[in-house]
Amino acid sequence: MKRIVLLRLGHRPERDKRITTHVGLTARMLGAEGMLLASDDPGIVKSLEDVVKRWGGDFYVINNVNFKQEVRKWKDEGGKVCHLSMYGVNLPEVTEELKKCEKLMIVVGAEKVPPEIYQLADWNVAVGSQPHSEVAAVALTMDRIAEGEPLEKEFPNAELTIVPMERGKKVIENADE
Ligand code: SAM
Repeated sequence: MKRIVLLRLGHRPERDKRITTHVGLTARMLGAEGMLLASDDPGIVKSLEDVVKRWGGDFYVINNVNFKQEVRKWKDEGGKVCHLSMYGVNLPEVTEELKKCEKLMIVVGAEKVPPEIYQLADWNVAVGSQPHSEVAAVALTMDRIAEGEPLEKEFPNAELTIVPMERGKKVIENADE
């Protein structure tokens, strides 16, 4: 797998700020290059950009995209689209196919997704056929299809770096070059 982009549908600025931010943070942590937000909420962009500035890497967020245009563009450029939905085929059945994909868009909803996404997607994938959370769905999918160990990914150009330890907290403030 070379490139993963997350597409967030149905974000309601008055209700979903925290969970959409967590979807973005989780996708970033597990190796996505960026998140496309199919709603207008510049606050989400700012929160995630603040995290990137402090904790490194080059994860991007694009606000207020047209989801159909983004999906079509991605597919025209050779990408594949995996829509996560509890109604889809179960993840273990398609993990190997997803792993082979060089360019993958992962789509998650909030309340109800536009029905077209089921047709536009190459796969509609359930992370177990029970309702749960978009954060859990993204985390489990990205972990299962990762190349190597996603939890050991390094984030360059960070202002802050955690030194893992058994007890206590140690954070290094990196000097500017
Ligand atoms: N009630 C909504 C519906 O029927 O479309 C689903 C709401 S759910 C909290 C929000 C998002 O989480 C879904 O759009 C889907 O992307 C993801 N999700 C929740 N459970 C899932 C599951 N079992 N498998 C895959 N994705 C899931």
